[in-house]
Amino acid sequence: MSAPIYYGKHFIDESDIEAVAEVLRSGLLTQGPKVKEFENSLCNLLSSPFCTAVSNGTAALHLLGLALGWKKESIVITSPITFAASANCILYSGAMPDFCDINEISYTIDPDKLEHKIKNYRYAGKNVDAVVAVDYAGYPCDWKSLRYLADKYSFKLINDNCHALGAEYLEDPGYAVKYADAAVQSFHPVKHITTGEGGAILTNNPDLDRSVKLLRSHGITKDPKEMTDNPGFWYYEMVELGFNYRISDIQCALGISQLNKLPLFLKRRRAIAEFYDNFFSGSSVFIKPEVPADIKHAYHLYPLQIDFQKLKLTKKELFERLAIENIFLQVHYIPVHLHPYYRKYFGFKEGDFPAAEEFYSREISLPVYFSLTDDEASFTAEKIKGLCL
Ligand SMILES: *Cc1c(COP(=O)(O)O)cnc(C)c1O
Repeated sequence: MSAPIYYGKHFIDESDIEAVAEVLRSGLLTQGPKVKEFENSLCNLLSSPFCTAVSNGTAALHLLGLALGWKKESIVITSPITFAASANCILYSGAMPDFCDINEISYTIDPDKLEHKIKNYRYAGKNVDAVVAVDYAGYPCDWKSLRYLADKYSFKLINDNCHALGAEYLEDPGYAVKYADAAVQSFHPVKHITTGEGGAILTNNPDLDRSVKLLRSHGITKDPKEMTDNPGFWYYEMVELGFNYRISDIQCALGISQLNKLPLFLKRRRAIAEFYDNFFSGSSVFIKPEVPADIKHAYHLYPLQIDFQKLKLTKKELFERLAIENIFLQVHYIPVHLHPYYRKYFGFKEGDFPAAEEFYSREISLPVYFSLTDDEASFTAEKIKGLCL
């Protein structure tokens, strides 16, 4: 039997291994030159003046919430169609999480629904503090409209950009920090590039950058300008309650080496997506992602919707039949508000976000990654079509 096919997979080559081995031989395992070098590379790629690399994407989101001063009374909104971490970061600071339904075409937060929601809060005398918008699957949100709303209603805008490294919005690869107050990356192996575990915060705002850098390492400063005293070289001060969310030089060396391959990774993902686009066209059973000309999708995922109501086959059966063929797909995502924790503590329920729930009922994520062969992509696509039609 052929090798199993998953929805995503990392790619490591000899140059990655050599880059890591070099750090191991160098003597500096963490907080050496590689962290800064990786941060600079990310700054260049994303046209961002500041970058802080951290231990993972969730830590990046947590630090942003802390740096933006979220607290118990704060209201922070995200999309229900995302990984739990985009919402959990709101809970870490004790703030109140809420969701805004997605747009049916883009699968990202719908700005009209968002404005409606913010107005409702205003009638109740409350303000929304921040919005964590997710470039789901690698498709940029409607950032122009989101920025307009952020200025109009003065809330902070975060781009959870974990799916979208290499995406372009209005032909701009540096869109993430242009429109949002900060953007977050993850370098988990399933994402575009990997550091094993890792993440980053990018921003245009020097104060925000200073805060997250301080909080990344225990809230400790060695900068004489920020200390109340300076009795000698040994001295440092803890000025905030921070965490150890540092990333190592070993990881960042891998990240730098992986970034060199990003253009190839993206090219392959886009070629696979184009194949699926063509393969699944011409049937009302399949709904493919629609990508306008001024957007470049990064295809962390290829979300195919299947109208199971038109079929005899259920999604459960489809997954079981594909597993027999050694094809193991996933669904992205179970709407976050429907997880037991969110139901239990915040009272969310079925029907709260109908577009997200409808999307969830139809979505399957097709395999899309650099090392996926043409044969594997067509084998998977043929099987799905054969089972559905
Ligand atoms: C992966 C991911 C995260 C979290 O990243 P980790 O590095 O795994 O902590 C956050 N948001 C989204 C949308 C993600 O896909």
